[in-house]
Amino acid sequence: MCGIVGYIGKEEALPVLMEGVKNLEYRGYDSAGFAILGDDGVKSEKSVGKISALAEKISGKRFSGKTGIIHSRWATHGGVTEKNAHPHSDCGGTIWLAHNGIVENYKELKKELSEKGHSFKSETDTEVIAHLIEEEMEGKSFENAVSSALKKIKGTYGLVVLKSDEPGTLIAARNFSPLLIGLGEGEYIVASDATAVLKHTKNVVYLDDGEMAVLTKSGHKVLDLEMNQLEKEHHVIDWSPELAKKNGYPHFMLKEIFEGPEAVENSTRGRLIPEEGMSKLGGLESLTELKEAKGILISACGTAYYAGRVGEYMLEEYAGIPVETDVASEFRYRKPVFRDGDIFLAVSQSGETADTLAALREAKEKGVPVVSIVNVVGSTIARYTDAGVYQHIGPEIGVASTKAFISQVSIFALLTILVGRHREMSLVTGRRIAEELEKIPDLIRLILKQSKNIEALARKYQKFVNFLYLGRKYNLPVAYEGALKLKEISYVHAEGCGAGEMKHGPIAMIDENFPSIFIAPQDSVYEKMVSNMEEVKARRGPIIAVATEGDKKIKEIADDVIYIPKTLEMLTPILSVVPLQLFAYHFGVARGLDVDQPRNLAKSVTVE
Ligand code: GLU
Repeated sequence: MCGIVGYIGKEEALPVLMEGVKNLEYRGYDSAGFAILGDDGVKSEKSVGKISALAEKISGKRFSGKTGIIHSRWATHGGVTEKNAHPHSDCGGTIWLAHNGIVENYKELKKELSEKGHSFKSETDTEVIAHLIEEEMEGKSFENAVSSALKKIKGTYGLVVLKSDEPGTLIAARNFSPLLIGLGEGEYIVASDATAVLKHTKNVVYLDDGEMAVLTKSGHKVLDLEMNQLEKEHHVIDWSPELAKKNGYPHFMLKEIFEGPEAVENSTRGRLIPEEGMSKLGGLESLTELKEAKGILISACGTAYYAGRVGEYMLEEYAGIPVETDVASEFRYRKPVFRDGDIFLAVSQSGETADTLAALREAKEKGVPVVSIVNVVGSTIARYTDAGVYQHIGPEIGVASTKAFISQVSIFALLTILVGRHREMSLVTGRRIAEELEKIPDLIRLILKQSKNIEALARKYQKFVNFLYLGRKYNLPVAYEGALKLKEISYVHAEGCGAGEMKHGPIAMIDENFPSIFIAPQDSVYEKMVSNMEEVKARRGPIIAVATEGDKKIKEIADDVIYIPKTLEMLTPILSVVPLQLFAYHFGVARGLDVDQPRNLAKSVTVE
């Protein structure tokens, strides 16, 4: 997944690179390294672990130069060692590059290159690219050599390359891994995402697959691999650099949970017309097929997938349209059957999730109209879809997604009104959903006030290493999401399960050492949830319940209750997920773990 930054310009490169990559650390933090090109050639340092470890290693040393590259790694090929940390170089130490992606044919290439005399220093797939460029340099310019080398690569890459004897040039290239170029004044910053360039510029060019950018101090050009020059659109990012800071919170995750109310406000602002019981999604207006759609295929991964599952329930119940939700990583391998009138809907906070993008391409190739719900403006998924809805929630930096889920579910509510009102949904129902949705931010604020109590609860349950999360209907995806949060942050076993499914297997695990978390607001499946709770209690399983304010009955059964305010059943997931996010957060912190950067994970999963 990796974070990459490249700099060429008027400033000393290293501080710009270090600051930029710090913002990208959520993408991977197995190791970090840089290469700076100065008057006395290239100097590089690498270190296992986070950027802070690298910073410590170089403290007191000087690395002067106005061109440089940096990388924060999420290892795919080769262990987490200093040798495998990027940037990687060729035999002569002339070509240096940082890479995000996977070279699928690296074994064949490595064999070929070794036979030609190249010697390799690392176990990574990436290193072959440096040697390949070195090999191609024979009689060619730097940019021609890079393009010839890239043509031989099968796989994915976002990469940035420098050459020690060409201090005035930096080359960036992309194939399926995100990369953008920040256009500063007299400087360029190449990065995996916009948060790394914001401090310097808001003007960016997004590279598309098969494109290469040649950046010099005096200008830039974007080429395809046949060396044809391309006209590229410039985009302006509307995020402020402050949005990517913790603002006094101990962790991004907590800050982002507390941004839940604004996330709903920002995702619904200007999009609700309560008096008409209607919603307006500008990005979808051009898509006439949506109104007549016969079915919606939702595809997403992780948290976004669970948001999609909630959306499925909403759209089927209130808009009367058949919906299927798939994990994107399975979608294109199971040979999906598209019917006339289907719409494909991708959900991805980053807009770069490789599996979701692959599913989207599959649908697009089959001629299905594709739409998306995405947060990052100008991201690959946003640009590849025919129409879409932006979340407008600012950057989400904590690796465990929180505010993005809340926003995605709110957008599904808007979509349900929009699609529903073009079908059977009455004005009264449309109004009710819209009016309730408007109240949601304040209701979330009430739940957030309980953060301290939830912290105490997390401490109380801290000794347990197994949890079962149970829900039904709208809160079944919330059960999965709550379990996912705990797994991600605390590394304890947590399993989401349909409360009705529990007795078909999982109940065998229940005893006094196996707590269950029931998401049981007073909705259409409440009575069934209460019965399931009794079943767990009868087997001495400790119970935490998320219940509707004022529900006394639950208090008599559960050991602990977290109350959420009452709302429309279809909107309860936006509220019920908040205590689960807080529980996972406090549980992880109580265990002394790094909740913003949990082990083995990276945020935007740009490899399949
Ligand atoms: N394949 C490269 C490595 O393992 C880059 C990994 C990535 O993009 O996450 O070093």
